Amino acid sequence: MKVLVIAAHDARQLDAVTARLVGAAGKLSPAEVHVLVMGSGCAAVAGQAATLGGVSRVLCADAPHLAQPNAETVARQLAALALAEGYRFVVAAHGMAARAALPRAAALRDAAFLADVTAVESAQSLVRPMYAGSVLARVRPQAAQVFMTVRPAAHEPCAQAAAACEVGTVAAVAPDTRIRLVGRDEAGDTRPDLARARVVVAGGRGVGAAEHMKLVEALADHLGGAVGASRAAVDAGFAPNAIQVGQTGKTVAPDVYMAFGISGAIQHLAGIKDARVIVAVNKDADAPIFSVADIGLVGDLFEVLPALRRALPELRHAS
Ligand SMILES: Cc1cc2nc3c(=O)[nH]c(=O)nc-3n(C[C@H](O)[C@H](O)[C@H](O)COP(=O)(O)OP(=O)(O)OC[C@H]3O[C@@H](n4cnc5c(N)ncnc54)[C@H](O)[C@@H]3O)c2cc1C
Repeated sequence: MKVLVIAAHDARQLDAVTARLVGAAGKLSPAEVHVLVMGSGCAAVAGQAATLGGVSRVLCADAPHLAQPNAETVARQLAALALAEGYRFVVAAHGMAARAALPRAAALRDAAFLADVTAVESAQSLVRPMYAGSVLARVRPQAAQVFMTVRPAAHEPCAQAAAACEVGTVAAVAPDTRIRLVGRDEAGDTRPDLARARVVVAGGRGVGAAEHMKLVEALADHLGGAVGASRAAVDAGFAPNAIQVGQTGKTVAPDVYMAFGISGAIQHLAGIKDARVIVAVNKDADAPIFSVADIGLVGDLFEVLPALRRALPELRHAS
């Protein structure tokens, strides 16, 4: 049984989540795990992927139009490769791009799509959360081919290989031009990426105003962390949509998640289930966040935030 892993990279560097995808793929099929590196000028990345332990082959689809492909083009590429190579599973990191492309690829192949797999017990038993993480479903895939996204933080990375495996090339499909990507704006944030940060400091509606988010940001910067927000804080205009944490926002998996003025609605908790330590500060002792917090403090965030900043040692960027 063959498994294809879609490498995550920025055309220069292989993203560390790829090793976690390979770790998950190894549990599906220890024998034949291939990695697809898709992009433009990404030969160096393919070389890095070839040193991941358990990978038997790296395939490189290299073409200018694959530098920033739309979901339809990625779907075409994956469907063509899945047909040619007969992959049973095609695995990518759970994120916006894969959530757009993989269901399309599955539709093209009349195959199954499975989202946000958090555990691979075997090729017959995959676990994924449902209803904002309230239920864990154990899924037995029946389809001949399965396209699936996995939550990287939930899987252990593979080891490095003793020797690099073979790197081959695959023909790039023609681009699907029905939808054209006009441009992509980088946020230009100097803070670590929210989804990978080791420390996340988040503010909720309790912060009260956009300018008060500066207190949350100051502690995040002090601890070398990322800033997050609840949906209520985003809806109120206190924080940009890009940093919303939760069911309809980002899933985070930091060592420490600090929630200030966040009540702990189930949709918010869905995004922080993989946090190792949850710290909650809320003036309401009955706030539901305290039922999941490892460390809880009943208090006013306007007093606690500056006090923590004074008391805690300054940390460097810790992503
Ligand atoms: C389909 C769906 C998807 C959703 N997706 C998401 C999602 O992705 N992420 C998300 O976060 N929510 C999501 N929500 C919304 C969610 O249900 C909650 O409404 C939201 O999380 C509440 O945000 P909050 O905790 O900041 O606000 P509130 O629930 O209003 O809580 C504010 C808290 O601040 C405390 N507080 C107030 N002042 C202070 C102070 N000075 N010091 C300390 N504490 C103080 C209060 O005691 C209160 O507990 C979703 C809802 C739906 C229906």
